[in-house]
Amino acid sequence: MDTFPPEKRSAIMRRVRSTNTAPEKRVRSLLHKLGFRFRLHRNDLPGKPDIVLPKHHVAVFVHGCFWHRHQGCPHATTPASRQEYWLPKFKRTIERDRKNQSELRQQGWNVAVVWECAIKDASNLASDLVRIIGHGESLVCHPQPASMALVADKLEDYRAGKKPEENAS
Ligand SMILES: [Zn+2]
Repeated sequence: MDTFPPEKRSAIMRRVRSTNTAPEKRVRSLLHKLGFRFRLHRNDLPGKPDIVLPKHHVAVFVHGCFWHRHQGCPHATTPASRQEYWLPKFKRTIERDRKNQSELRQQGWNVAVVWECAIKDASNLASDLVRIIGHGESLVCHPQPASMALVADKLEDYRAGKKPEENAS
């Protein structure tokens, strides 16, 4: 349960988002070690991707699990109070993310989403990033809640909002 009142939480999230966050820095340093060249915060691209690899045509978003609603993730909690405030806010964020990603793809970019909770395991994240960037596929890096092992799903599924259970049925 979220211990901050909504306004306070909102202010915290805004402050977190507005700077170069620690998760972003970790992904950048990993990419650097892997020998990839990149640019930051391309203002001219939809959604201002956190990291852009022009040579590979990949735009990377480093998404906080709470704010961007990482499905099935323990960090994507919903505050118990003021849901009439939070739920539309979450919905707008998800819609904005989808729109930005779709526009980027229309412009010929592949989009990779790195969930914040996937960053802890640097070696798994590194192999995911190499696979994504190397193959030019649009994938999502996130740990599977059950095993906490990193998996990469097709972005199409992510954008369709599918959960593993829904795929099975
Ligand atoms: Zn997460």
